[in-house]
Amino acid sequence: MKIAILPGDGIGSEIVAEAIKVLETLNRHFSLGAEWAFGDIGGAGYDVAGDPYPLITRDLAKQSDAVLLGAVGGPKWERLDKPLRPEAGLLGIRADLGLFANYRPAKVHAQLVNASTLKPEVIEGVDLLVVRELVSGIYFGQPRGIEVRNDQRYGFNTMLYAESEVERIARKAFMAARLRSNRVCSVDKANVLDCSELWREVVCRVHADEFSDVELSHMYVDNAAMQLIRNPKQFDVIVTSNLFGDILSDEASMLTGSIGMLPSASIGERWAMYEPIHGSAPDIAGQGKANPLATILSVAMMLQFSLDRIDLANKVEQAVEQAINDGVRTADLATAGAVSCGQMGDAVCSRLKALA
Ligand code: NAD
Repeated sequence: MKIAILPGDGIGSEIVAEAIKVLETLNRHFSLGAEWAFGDIGGAGYDVAGDPYPLITRDLAKQSDAVLLGAVGGPKWERLDKPLRPEAGLLGIRADLGLFANYRPAKVHAQLVNASTLKPEVIEGVDLLVVRELVSGIYFGQPRGIEVRNDQRYGFNTMLYAESEVERIARKAFMAARLRSNRVCSVDKANVLDCSELWREVVCRVHADEFSDVELSHMYVDNAAMQLIRNPKQFDVIVTSNLFGDILSDEASMLTGSIGMLPSASIGERWAMYEPIHGSAPDIAGQGKANPLATILSVAMMLQFSLDRIDLANKVEQAVEQAINDGVRTADLATAGAVSCGQMGDAVCSRLKALA
């Protein structure tokens, strides 16, 4: 099995180095048999090839069983034209690989309850999954632009969903729920938006036709934003559109205490990509302070979804849990005695090795 590794920018190379240590440990002690090759994306892609998603990276990604991405972006590339900026590379690879389903689990570790800004009784035991549609909706809909009408400039975007796009993301959410607590909450704004009205109708139809064993509820996005803070434990799987999912999953990440903890999987019909949900953190890049656990947990998602090794995914999650339980903390989680990014990677690998 071949993995394309795209470290990207900022802390990308630091966190990915720790994920590679985990893959090496799995090869050596669990006979995983993974091989990997590196590619450039984001600012790194622009620096090397004048393109945030270079052709050579496209080829590498498409010839691999899975892609592991660090993060992209940084002040160095902020003034470039929009299509040349690092973020265009990220949207580019998601669209090019057809990665329509984005899974973002948010699980609160018992030992990290006090790292959140919310009260322990509210977040203890939270374990939810946001399933976000990733390659359509308002981020991609046409027409879009800024133009002058009646002597005034107007900015506009189009929120657009085809029935087939809603059907396929709804199916993914129902299937994920069957492996969890069997509950799906579909989040929309059907009281105001026509696009959401269709979304809700299609979700209901897919549910009735194929997944009536799963409990389905609906919530307007403004209420969902409130409920995530008020009582996050009520949620199992949340399925929603690109824009709403972007916002709600970042909100959900803060339930867990640090954005450095949350992995993600983006999956299409043929390819899949795994990445932490955070960005390139230019403020701490090159200092060894980054938390690599989101990236290491993204490797666990890769083992489960792309490499068909749920046994090893469980071991990686167990090793991370043990490191946390043993009090190993990077600076984003520690009140004192923080370890470096590399030391956290080593701590996970030594516990993983002990599970062999
Ligand atoms: P960010 O996620 O990079 O950082 C937000 C805050 O969280 C910072 O204080 C940072 O130090 C901290 N942080 C992030 N990851 C961490 C980790 N692993 N360990 C410890 N602390 C961590 O978001 P931002 O500052 O808004 O954006 C920085 C750059 O990243 C921008 O160029 C942005 O466009 C880009 N970005 C990329 C992605 C991606 O690659 N998927 C996602 C979001 C933002």
